[in-house]
Amino acid sequence: MQPLVVLGNVNVDLILGPVAPWPQVGIEIFVPHDELRVGGSAGNTALAWAGLGVPFRLCASRGNDSFGDFLVEAFPAGSVSWTRTDAKTTLTIGVTHPDGERTFLTTRGHLPLYGPDEALAALREVPLAGGWLLLSGAFQTEALMPGYGRLVDYAHRVGARVAIDPGWPPAGWTEPVRAFAQSLLAVSDCALLSEVEATSLTGCPSPLTAAEVIARTMRDGAIAVVKCGPNGAVAAGKICGTWSVPAPQVEVVDTIGAGDVFNAGFLAAIARDEPIETCLADAVALASRAISTSPRSYAPVAEPPPIRA
Ligand code: ADP
Repeated sequence: MQPLVVLGNVNVDLILGPVAPWPQVGIEIFVPHDELRVGGSAGNTALAWAGLGVPFRLCASRGNDSFGDFLVEAFPAGSVSWTRTDAKTTLTIGVTHPDGERTFLTTRGHLPLYGPDEALAALREVPLAGGWLLLSGAFQTEALMPGYGRLVDYAHRVGARVAIDPGWPPAGWTEPVRAFAQSLLAVSDCALLSEVEATSLTGCPSPLTAAEVIARTMRDGAIAVVKCGPNGAVAAGKICGTWSVPAPQVEVVDTIGAGDVFNAGFLAAIARDEPIETCLADAVALASRAISTSPRSYAPVAEPPPIRA
């Protein structure tokens, strides 16, 4: 199996439950579910690899507090190269809205806890030769953009291939971000895009056409994958080939991080040199399992506990 490395953000998410009316006192409150879990796109992917039992390395930073300690415990020993341990916490608060959607509030905003130099230094420490480097949430931290070219060059120099999951840029697809996206895709071997990213980048309403258009702009042998939520996923090769895998109907518990888990399944399969169809099928199967079998519960709390004097 070829080495797998992911670089990106990892957080500790504290998930607050849904808003519950509290009629006795006439207010609505967020009900804490007392839940801490690993979050951040790179963290989600790494945890899925750990669940699959495949060897991997995560390059990420963490806060120098008890939440940072939580992260150290969360991953298999030796699987993380911490780019920096920083005074800024990696705690992120997730607020569940009545419709089940969640927003995440972070004290760090979109600032990463590492810069391009630290990221490169961390990459040099991990076994990457001949493997795959996933740049996760690549467009979510504009501060890092100038450094990505160097990371890609380094990966190619050691004979690795580069996969990009852009993540939604904080400022949206402004012209500079779009130009950056195009330049980064042009040197990448695999694009792992959500449907809205692919269609908004290309202007093509069909995810498969968007995948074909994007693949044509990429390196020789590259593949563009578009994740389509309940419709599964599609992919297109640069020279030829299109693939489409439907998602099984599942009872959805929690779709947060589904795309990151999908990435883990896809790359684990491509690192075993499986055909693209198998990579897509593995990724869809893993994502389906993740969204439907979460041990977490977000059921609304019917009756909040009484206040004691
Ligand atoms: P992202 O989280 O990046 O937006 P998607 O929402 O497309 O990515 O989810 C990634 C994968 O998770 C999909 O390709 C699909 O396999 C699975 N998935 C997501 N939502 C659903 C759903 N409602 N029903 C079945 N599978 C889903």
